[in-house]
Amino acid sequence: MEGISGQEGNFSVRVRQKPRIVDMDKCIACNLCAEKCPKKVPDEFNEGLDKRKSAYIKYGQTVPLK
Ligand code: SF4
Repeated sequence: MEGISGQEGNFSVRVRQKPRIVDMDKCIACNLCAEKCPKKVPDEFNEGLDKRKSAYIKYGQTVPLK
């Protein structure tokens, strides 16, 4: 979320959607891409103390799970 303007009952919200690369209509959320992904990057969830795969699901309750 990049910004909110307006007042009660009439808000405008500006949201930045980053590209997912994955085709959301074809993905079945099997997680195989995360298992097979060869690239590891710093895990921002753990302040970069460890690594995660480039293809990953941010957390288990992600909606949609893709
Ligand atoms: S989770 Fe990954 S491997 Fe599975 S369908 Fe979606 S993009 Fe493909």
